[in-house]
Amino acid sequence: MGHIIFWGIIRTAILIPALWILSGYLEYKYWWTFLALAVYGVIIHPAYIQYRQFMEANTEVITDTLCSSCKHFNETAVLCLKYDKHPTRNYIPCEGIDWEVKNNSFNEEESDYT
Ligand code: SF4
Repeated sequence: MGHIIFWGIIRTAILIPALWILSGYLEYKYWWTFLALAVYGVIIHPAYIQYRQFMEANTEVITDTLCSSCKHFNETAVLCLKYDKHPTRNYIPCEGIDWEVKNNSFNEEESDYT
């Protein structure tokens, strides 16, 4: 998920000076329409496509693996926080040895990662 944010920031950093330069060539009445289309086309739509690709590639890992029910698994990064490795459908970094049930209780008194 971090790569989506990273490339969103890169595209934004490129788009801002480009829009700044183009603002001198566009009539003001078209400016806001062009700005909205540019932001959608250069930043939002590619980020959405990257997110969909990420979800397609990782949905099974997030929902149907041993790691998906483990408290050490971070779903947004598809990462085992204990081993700092990315589990896949066929690869579990700890091979099941360090699996611990995910606690969804709101009354959890302590967490290993806060
Ligand atoms: S500790 Fe093991 S089961 Fe838990 S997320 Fe990491 S690799 Fe998966």
